Amino acid sequence: MAENDAAAYDPENIFAKILKGEIPCHKLYEDDDTLAFLDIMPRTEGHALVITKEPAADLFGITPEGLGKLMAVVQTLAPKIKQAVGADGVLIQQFNGAAAGQTVFHLHVHIIPRKDGFPMRP
Ligand code: C5P
Repeated sequence: MAENDAAAYDPENIFAKILKGEIPCHKLYEDDDTLAFLDIMPRTEGHALVITKEPAADLFGITPEGLGKLMAVVQTLAPKIKQAVGADGVLIQQFNGAAAGQTVFHLHVHIIPRKDGFPMRP
């Protein structure tokens, strides 16, 4: 864990349970450090999440090395998802803290494909 302003990590959060196999997910990709799966409440077709296996509640709880690995997967996966759903662009989004809109306190990055003229579900 990074030695800074990290939020407390709850090892029983819903993404930790997905990592332990206690809750199912539609897996897209997995390696030693990350897991990617389709969001259960997609805001657009192909909306995916990439989560870290390092126990971090948010961006401030992960090591720079772990963050680099997470974002490398986002960089690789996002164009593939964009192509798979025929999107025109891709929104990369990440929330830190309830006030910022975070609801699951396990570091994750949203990959949200966007199509010209198609609104995004809130
Ligand atoms: O706002 P935040 O980035 O914390 O959102 C968490 C996301 O995790 C939501 O988009 C929600 O649909 C998703 N989720 C999921 N599978 C679950 C629980 C939440 O994809 N089992």
